[in-house]
Amino acid sequence: MEQTVQVGLGERSYPIIIGAKVLQRIGGDLQARRPGKRYAIISDARVAGLYGGQLQQHLQQSGLPVEMITFPPGEASKNLQTVATLASTLAELGFDRKDALIALGGGVTGDITGFLASVYMRGIPFVQVPTSLLAQVDSSVGGKTGVDIPQGKNLVGTFYQPKAVYIDTDVLQTLPHVEFLGGMAEVIKYGASIDAGFFAWLATHRESILALDPVRTIPMIMRCCEMKAAVVEQDEREGGLRRILNFGHTIGHAVEAASGYRINHGFAVAIGMRAVAELAVKGGIARPEVATAIRQLLEAYGLPVTIPVEFDLQTLRAYLQTDKKTVGGRVFFVLPEQLGRVRISDEVADADLDAVLANTF
Ligand code: NAD
Ligand code: ZN
Repeated sequence: MEQTVQVGLGERSYPIIIGAKVLQRIGGDLQARRPGKRYAIISDARVAGLYGGQLQQHLQQSGLPVEMITFPPGEASKNLQTVATLASTLAELGFDRKDALIALGGGVTGDITGFLASVYMRGIPFVQVPTSLLAQVDSSVGGKTGVDIPQGKNLVGTFYQPKAVYIDTDVLQTLPHVEFLGGMAEVIKYGASIDAGFFAWLATHRESILALDPVRTIPMIMRCCEMKAAVVEQDEREGGLRRILNFGHTIGHAVEAASGYRINHGFAVAIGMRAVAELAVKGGIARPEVATAIRQLLEAYGLPVTIPVEFDLQTLRAYLQTDKKTVGGRVFFVLPEQLGRVRISDEVADADLDAVLANTF
């Protein structure tokens, strides 16, 4: 059982290959595709310990020279220092523009490796092997790379597409459950904002999805990749349309930041989706049933819809104003009109926003 989604970006097009045991096929596929002569697997120490040896072995069996380079797991590693250290290691190993990188891990690894690939020797090829659900349905597709600086998250980065994305659903077995749920918030985001049929499908198959049954997870991830690919194909550099992927993220980012990043990204997005759905109802854009359906699906998956830690409304509001997607001081919201359809608007009444935010506690 294996599926392929094509991302159509002219000469920068690439396939996303999704299935159980895809990890074992990467060596053979790279041998056929030949993005590089030698390969460096870049991975955080945790994922490297689980899957690095196995992937390295499969590449070696396919006759491909491969090195493994690791860094400590966690968002704290997503900085320029890690990029500098990795670049030095590549240089010491004699990697040049004929060689390629393999990002094996979650979104942190994908963002670091993509950025490194885009600047090392002015750009070398790389492929993505996302292992967290968030990375499989979101960050590994679309070519946004980046690292954090003390002034903010993802403030230094590039647009740089991978040569291929390999998604093995088996690796989800070892992903901590909270990380899986965080990824499910992004999955629900696609349904709520782009595809009502998919939204309903997620409700129907909740049990088997939570049980990680590949009969469900493979088509689920595939559908998300299709939607992300379609949006990216039309708006690679986030000029407009790509902003719909930020459904739930305007308030979500503020919740995340105001909590000092104690709230997981996906959980914050879940809270943000519920809030923005209520905002749409208050503004007369959506019917109350839309907000109810979104809230119910989030709750069915065990996602939070209110903020589980203490902080005040003023802090949250201040963070909303400083969101980097603010344009000319106005905060833009992606509001649902119905399930599967959104509109981008900066015309939200302050009183409605305050009422909705007060409701998130
Ligand atoms: P992550 O990479 O830190 O992974 C989360 C944790 O899960 C880590 O501890 C990791 O070691 C572990 N892990 C990953 N896969 C595992 C597996 N199969 N088994 C066991 N443990 C596993 O974080 P994430 O949630 O995957 O990604 C978040 C990052 O993605 C953020 O930095 C965010 O900015 C970025 N992001 C980027 C984009 C983009 O378009 N580039 C989009 C969304 C998010
Ligand atoms: Zn997100």
